[in-house]
Amino acid sequence: MSLQQDILSLFDEQLQSWPLAGKNYEALENIRVKVFDFGAYTINVQFNPARAVSSLAKLDTKTIEARPCFLCAANRPKEQKSIDFKGKYDVLVNPFPICQKHLTIASNIHEPQLISLEKLDDMLDLAEALPDFVILYNGPQSGASAPDHFHFQAGNVDFFHQPVDMFHDGLIDKRVFSSPRKETIAQAFGQLYKELKTNEDEPKMNIFCQFKDNEFVLTVYPRKQHRPRQFFAEGIAQLMVSPGAIDMTGTLIIAREEDFEKITKDDIKDIFKQVSL
Ligand SMILES: [Zn+2]
Repeated sequence: MSLQQDILSLFDEQLQSWPLAGKNYEALENIRVKVFDFGAYTINVQFNPARAVSSLAKLDTKTIEARPCFLCAANRPKEQKSIDFKGKYDVLVNPFPICQKHLTIASNIHEPQLISLEKLDDMLDLAEALPDFVILYNGPQSGASAPDHFHFQAGNVDFFHQPVDMFHDGLIDKRVFSSPRKETIAQAFGQLYKELKTNEDEPKMNIFCQFKDNEFVLTVYPRKQHRPRQFFAEGIAQLMVSPGAIDMTGTLIIAREEDFEKITKDDIKDIFKQVSL
């Protein structure tokens, strides 16, 4: 059996045996979506209360250090099973899904969320092994809810209402590289990383990787910041949006119903202006 087949079996098994996962994947079927037309493309806004655990999470160093790491094998829920990848990663069903097949691919050691050429190579291998998925990476200050434990995520390709590598001119900055050769992608990424480098541990960004038509396609979203001003506002001005990688592809995830009801096209433009480079 291929890795992809093993993963589909893992989904079937976990949705049966793990009540939390079963409930949250079932809830996805009734998710509400609003569509905003931007001419050449649309931005979808998804109301997904199960994501509150991630969208509203405190991510300061003190909070992170004080909590048991939920990606370390010893602290995972007893129902959560895993599949090995390359002897380095545990492939897990994400119990708080955004899409119908949502995976977390966690390093099997507790090491910080920092991308490197070695990790990028793993990401390309994952994309090649999982052609029905898009692999994604949230930088430690760009949406990762476990900045202290290295992980990728993956989502089913058909979740995305527009191709991840499609451009959103005037709204979202992205760089796209494609090649049948992993080395070419790695070189292009290395150059971009240098170009974006600041004095932080790594440039703020989200990364997507897909293997399609026998080519690797790498899409990088350079970021200015993780959360927009509205997240920290009070009262009527508050909008709790916390854009991670999936939001940058044009599907904004909103965990509070009041925010879903009131968000406007102008809010969307303003939010992307603040978080996209
Ligand atoms: Zn850990």
